[in-house]
Amino acid sequence: MNLSEYRITTGKNFKLSEYRTDYTADFDKKRAKKLLKKNKKKMFELQNLLYAHDRYSILIIFQAMDAAGKDSAIKHVMSGLNPQGTQVFSFKQPSKEELDHDYLWRTNKALPERGRIGIFNRSYYEEVLVVKLHNLIKYQKIPAELITGDIWEKRYKHIRDFEKYAYENGMVIIKFFLHLSKDEQKKRFLERLNNPAKNWKFSAADLKEREYWDEYQKCYEDAIKNTSAKHAPWYVVPADKKWFTRLVISEVIVNTLKNLKMEYPELSHEELEKIDYYKKQLEND
Ligand code: ATP
Ligand code: MG
Repeated sequence: MNLSEYRITTGKNFKLSEYRTDYTADFDKKRAKKLLKKNKKKMFELQNLLYAHDRYSILIIFQAMDAAGKDSAIKHVMSGLNPQGTQVFSFKQPSKEELDHDYLWRTNKALPERGRIGIFNRSYYEEVLVVKLHNLIKYQKIPAELITGDIWEKRYKHIRDFEKYAYENGMVIIKFFLHLSKDEQKKRFLERLNNPAKNWKFSAADLKEREYWDEYQKCYEDAIKNTSAKHAPWYVVPADKKWFTRLVISEVIVNTLKNLKMEYPELSHEELEKIDYYKKQLEND
């Protein structure tokens, strides 16, 4: 699979409208499912190595419009990982305590440790998406004189600086934008309304946000444009076909892990010598 079709490493010339939501790169569902299964096995092995090597941590961010399949993508990724080395955090509207701090405070608390994989279901990117779109910044208790006209530019910079800092300390950041069409969202909302087993997933608030579709696309485009980097790439993943979304995500994760310089720790000469000693001790037990 050619991942460079989805990977954005520089915002220069980035246009979201150039990315298709229904692209499947000549895959069919059957072949995709088979490959996904293989990738999950590889992911599991690579995660073991990540844990043993204990130097890198992996941060996987999921951002998307409602019903783009964030939850089910996370479920699938998780099912290919060892739960002991993985954490998922969902970022909702900030609590009162969170609003008493800078906006990266809750992020810092949730970052994965070395050897582990952290998954963010939404993230600090909401700060330049929903917060920008609805101008929620006025509820954030930031001193008025600091809310200047270039506040969003500043936030992009905070995010770029934070991601660079994290990278230079051994964190590997993967950012997924699940790119859904407005039509497909409508279909999925209707499915939630028509299928009693899915009724609970429907939220009137989601319908309200749908009215801002074009504004959201613009916010996503600006966010991706301003925060894509080689060390923290965005992946714009077609999201109209869930089976394809999952395949691309699994490929990206396997590929990223594979490209890290990792090895199982080697035992020292003394430790190797001791192994014989311990073996003998157990045999004579
Ligand atoms: P799902 O609906 O699939 O369970 P979700 O991520 O949509 O998952 P919700 O509880 O429905 O979860 O929504 C969380 C809401 O919190 C989203 O509308 C999101 O935009 C909002 N949110 C997240 N971070 C912030 C933030 N920093 N400031 C304001 N709103 C935020
Ligand atoms: Mg929701």
